[in-house]
Amino acid sequence: MTTISPLIAGNWKMNGLTSSLEELSALAQLLTTGEAPRAVVVVCPPATLLAAVAAQGASSGIMAGGQNCHVEAAGAHTGEVSAGMLADVGAQYVIVGHSERRADNHETDDLVRAKAEAAIGAGLKPIICVGETEAERDAGQAESVVAAQLASSVPDAAGQHEVIVAYEPIWAIGTGRTPSNDDIRQMHANIRDRLVERFGEKGAQIRILYGGSLKPVNAREILAIENVNGGLVGGASLLAKDFYTIISSV
Ligand code: PEP
Repeated sequence: MTTISPLIAGNWKMNGLTSSLEELSALAQLLTTGEAPRAVVVVCPPATLLAAVAAQGASSGIMAGGQNCHVEAAGAHTGEVSAGMLADVGAQYVIVGHSERRADNHETDDLVRAKAEAAIGAGLKPIICVGETEAERDAGQAESVVAAQLASSVPDAAGQHEVIVAYEPIWAIGTGRTPSNDDIRQMHANIRDRLVERFGEKGAQIRILYGGSLKPVNAREILAIENVNGGLVGGASLLAKDFYTIISSV
């Protein structure tokens, strides 16, 4: 059986000023003075703080990730940031296809796949988000919706390069609600099956993160579920103490 080292990524979303770097220092302090983390730790701040997070996090093993990238390397795309630019300031990961971007910016599976390809091309590891709405779950479509997103959002290059899949039921993001442990187990098993079907042994090694109201109080049991290889954490990643508790729950 393959052992997958867990990964915990914090998504700061559109939160964080330079003063928030104090929270990063507090996290670094906890990580270096406490028990060694049993997970790869990634912080994805707003683009304005990425260079600082990459520089400041390095000594404590905290890796930096972007929250989005453009599909092209450079050009006339005002306000956009390319994967190469993220890599240039020290990012190693980038979130693509977060449900907030799919909703706010009308990002399609095809676009998400192109972003994941751009990320791989720039030497980044894309964290590709998938997840159903509450209406889709209520209609019994969660599994088929996520399978379709996986088929179209995960690039073929995942067969040769490292990618991460994050299952984030949209109705659980920022709501304090989570699926039952059985529902998480079932969905992660389905995702694993789809990845193995498509990528063989490589698919058995792809990390599948759970995201959606992961908190200090529920992290231990959720992160222990089979095929949950870590978490993508929003709100609870903003406070070093909470994020550290989640990391330590692995
Ligand atoms: C997220 O936005 O990726 C997320 C998981 O948010 P939260 O943990 O706040 O639900």
